[in-house]
Amino acid sequence: MKRSKQRVLGAALIALMGAVSGGAQAAPCLEVVLTGVQGGPPVFMGQAGAGTLVRYGSEENNCSDVLLQFDAGRGTTQQLSKIGVPAGKITAVFFSHIHSDHSEGLPALMQLRWHFNSAGPKVDMVCSDDVTTPKGYTMSCRGFGENIGAALIASGEMAQRLAENPKRLPGGPSELLNIMTFEASPEAQVVWSKGDVTVTAVQSRHVAGHASYRVDSPAGSVVIGGDAGNDKPAPPRDSSTSAQVEALAQGADIVVHSVIHPVMGPDGTSGFPPPIYHRQSTATDLGAMSMRAGVANLMLTHHIPPLGAARQGPYPIEGGGLTADDYVSAVRDSGYEGNVVIGPDLSKLRLVAE
Ligand SMILES: [Zn+2]
Repeated sequence: MKRSKQRVLGAALIALMGAVSGGAQAAPCLEVVLTGVQGGPPVFMGQAGAGTLVRYGSEENNCSDVLLQFDAGRGTTQQLSKIGVPAGKITAVFFSHIHSDHSEGLPALMQLRWHFNSAGPKVDMVCSDDVTTPKGYTMSCRGFGENIGAALIASGEMAQRLAENPKRLPGGPSELLNIMTFEASPEAQVVWSKGDVTVTAVQSRHVAGHASYRVDSPAGSVVIGGDAGNDKPAPPRDSSTSAQVEALAQGADIVVHSVIHPVMGPDGTSGFPPPIYHRQSTATDLGAMSMRAGVANLMLTHHIPPLGAARQGPYPIEGGGLTADDYVSAVRDSGYEGNVVIGPDLSKLRLVAE
């Protein structure tokens, strides 16, 4: 299919097309939904943990041929239910890394799927290979996926539910996952594809095994940076953003990225630990990166701090809670003039091939 010019439409402007008569094909569409914008382990005002749904299909079927979930923080299943996406319909789940704020929604999603959809299909779970760090611990996405049902098996619940319905998979929710790991590399590599949709990945720095992704489709493309930061862990450096993510984002239509506001920086009064500040990308640097990469739409997620929060965990926000304008103006400090989406949960952008 020929790649054509796209329209980008805000959610409120979308009117679903009716049935197309005369055999004409409905336009391909790619929709990007922020399923959770909470940054880090805290919980605030019901925001879901980090996650992005990328859906591709035609306008006729509400972009629903392929449903890809990138990270699945706390509350992902609830947020998906608000937009009519059942757990049983997710095609694949990708993880930037397996910190709990990005992954703890997976057991809930997969247990629900095991309960009602044990007959399949399985869900592809895509993430990087195990990485053993210089300190001797191993980050294992596979280990996480293989053990999401362990507590429920240990409690006896799984045996009880199998006794009442033996058609369920005996191994629990992990058995419904098709775990596909890749060796993360700074060079982009294709890690998953289905039909017209291709997902590439790069290694990026945050914690061991962190990866960032790009989805390409006939309707457009989106980069999901995750919690990527610069390979150089602290200033002096050119930017807090990742050079690999910037290369991946060249010419993309949308960048979705975790963000930290400069108010949390070592020059402020929050007391937020500098190493944790420096392993995230700042709003201003994300604007500059998007400008250099020629990206028209920047969607900020995983807000540190959340909008309106007086604290990020134990760390107080100088002057009280930030507004969306505080984030946008930090982005504009870079000179970026593109579209900035700052949440809340379920904010979305749709690309439509013309
Ligand atoms: Zn995180």
